[in-house]
Amino acid sequence: MLCRVLTRSRSPGIGNGLTYDCGDFELKEGSHVSIPLRKEIVEGVVFEVMKQRKDQDFDIKNVEAVLAESPLLNSTQLKTLEWISNYYCCSLRQALRVWLPTPSWKKLKPKKEPYFKLIDPTIPKRGVNQQMIVEYLRDKDWVPLSQIKDEINVSGSSLKKLAEKGRLAMEEREETYDHIKPEINEPKLTNAQNEAYKKIKKSDKPSLLFGITSSGKTEIYAQMISDAVHSGKQAILLVPEILLTEHCIHRFDELLGLKHIAVVHSRLTIAQRRRAWTKIHNGGISLVIGSRSALFAPVPNLGLVIIDEEHEWTYKNEQSPRYHARETAVKLCEFAGAKLVLGTATPSLESWARAKSGEYNFVKLTERYQDQPLPSVRIIDLADSNFGKLYPFTPPLLDAISDRIKKHEQSVLFINRRGVSSALMCLDCKRRIVSPESNLPFTVHKDYQGNPYLLDHTTGTRGEVPATCPSCSSVRLHAIGAGTQRIEEILNAEFPNARLLRADSDTLTHPEHMRLLLKKMRENQADILLGTQSVVKGLDLPNVTLAAVLVADVGLSLPHFRAGERIFQLLTQLTGRSGRAKTGEVIIQTFRPNAPEVKFAAEHKTEEFLDEELKLRIHARYPPATKIIRLVVREDPETKAKELRDKIRSESDLISHASPQLFGGGKTWQVLIRGVNPEKVLKQLDLKGVVVDVDPIECV
Ligand code: ADP
Ligand code: ZN
Repeated sequence: MLCRVLTRSRSPGIGNGLTYDCGDFELKEGSHVSIPLRKEIVEGVVFEVMKQRKDQDFDIKNVEAVLAESPLLNSTQLKTLEWISNYYCCSLRQALRVWLPTPSWKKLKPKKEPYFKLIDPTIPKRGVNQQMIVEYLRDKDWVPLSQIKDEINVSGSSLKKLAEKGRLAMEEREETYDHIKPEINEPKLTNAQNEAYKKIKKSDKPSLLFGITSSGKTEIYAQMISDAVHSGKQAILLVPEILLTEHCIHRFDELLGLKHIAVVHSRLTIAQRRRAWTKIHNGGISLVIGSRSALFAPVPNLGLVIIDEEHEWTYKNEQSPRYHARETAVKLCEFAGAKLVLGTATPSLESWARAKSGEYNFVKLTERYQDQPLPSVRIIDLADSNFGKLYPFTPPLLDAISDRIKKHEQSVLFINRRGVSSALMCLDCKRRIVSPESNLPFTVHKDYQGNPYLLDHTTGTRGEVPATCPSCSSVRLHAIGAGTQRIEEILNAEFPNARLLRADSDTLTHPEHMRLLLKKMRENQADILLGTQSVVKGLDLPNVTLAAVLVADVGLSLPHFRAGERIFQLLTQLTGRSGRAKTGEVIIQTFRPNAPEVKFAAEHKTEEFLDEELKLRIHARYPPATKIIRLVVREDPETKAKELRDKIRSESDLISHASPQLFGGGKTWQVLIRGVNPEKVLKQLDLKGVVVDVDPIECV
């Protein structure tokens, strides 16, 4: 027999593996082997076992050794790996990276643990513990120390003493987890939740669980996880931001107990990662919680994947392999025969289109838990406000905050981005001043003397601040960003006695910081929480009755076909933060009060927004009506990108553009290819040195 082996070796040309002779070894797909490669012996994973060779170029050498009894990857995982390589246009070796921790994989062996077996069944005369042990082990086969400790609560030393006396046999074996079954604390669903749960349970398709904020999606996840565990399988729960998983972990601790849960995230050390991998691989974990890469947790028998906040952009990996966790999960669950639940209050257009067409099972939750009413939303037009020096605070917003402080209630204030960079906008025609070179908005900067100038980040071009709007000649031009620091200064000046907390990626670098901050909010040790959206969204704080976004338009400074969708999601998230336990209010400050995403979000009309937006996308031929592939060119970028674009235009009727990339000062260029099946044209292109990004998120 022959086999194709993937190695971690970066040598070019072997990204899709090399063929070896299995020799006398009985190899399986996924087996961990060592093989000769040039003058070295290296580790590898068997990708497939085959009867005949596929390539003719090399002498076939023999596999050197088998390094582990059980395969590193099972067939579900290998099929998904192959799909990633095909769909995202990367080599199998690149796709393998997401599945295994940093080599050497020899370190992925389970820990050794003492096992005991009874030899002499007579009950010892003395010692309650010793008597108990003998009773317990009677008629049993080898039992691991951890299980004995768990079940009869005796110490390792009493066991060792009995072994020394010759009453027990003792042996070091690799730790197994077969005996560890979590005890489940079953959730109690409301009627509405139960209906949704039954609908998910019945369907074989991926389910889109579209539930408004605070409807109790987490309870449905808990019920699904409980079902998976009851049938002896494991579940994976993906969350967008590990900083926000605290309350979620707490909920699943109640359900299963922490020792059955693995939390995997990017801050784990290599050693912690290996330990988690091994425990999960050997069936010691029932539930894996983590960010996108947790999708590749090596569970032996996958029963369920849940993607919470499925619309979030963080599910797309921006390095090779450039997978999207949601799309990959669809395939993983299909190959595993597992259930997939996509939960959100603001579905992505991709999932919305599929739910509407019947490709996904469409499940709705329309009531908040205990019928808590949705907050009322006020839109404040910044272009018409008289904010003077206090920009971006308008008088009604300042009044609302002051009112909350008097009532000992809390306010959450969102800013879209940290820092001070911002676009220059015309308050009359609502256009942004754009760079003539890239057609993208300029950002406003200040030089060392404090004089403002404009900078185009894509090309490095500088411009002067114009006196009037180039489109409508209005003199009402305004820099629309507002940095955290400035906002903090204003708040301190306006409310000198208020207790202010700040949450952005500068102040929160560790999950522990977030925990402390939430504790302070819960215990009413703060009045105002000021934070960037990525940190503040998803909070569940009972005493918050005012949530406000200071400038809803800042995130819109890019002419991006997803901009409206993003703003809508942000604003809807915001409305979910206020009034979770008491009646609340939301304030949206914006320069564009009539934009559909602002109006629909304010009226809680998510379905209407999505239907409208989907129509627009179909009309303009943007995803999900079409597919986009982005080619990133780094060498001789402008010439090469334009050549690629011309070739694509001559070979197909796909829409394609070449432009400098937004960030990077014109050093790299991109070619966007848009249409139905854009992947077909790739075969006709010379893509040496070009990065291929399928379904890109950032593609302005
Ligand atoms: P969502 O994720 O849909 O925004 P959550 O799952 O966070 O909503 O639920 C909102 C709040 O309601 C949480 O505090 C949760 O504990 C509570 N809740 C929802 N459903 C139930 C239930 N069936 N039993 C007890 N509490 C519930
Ligand atoms: Zn104008």
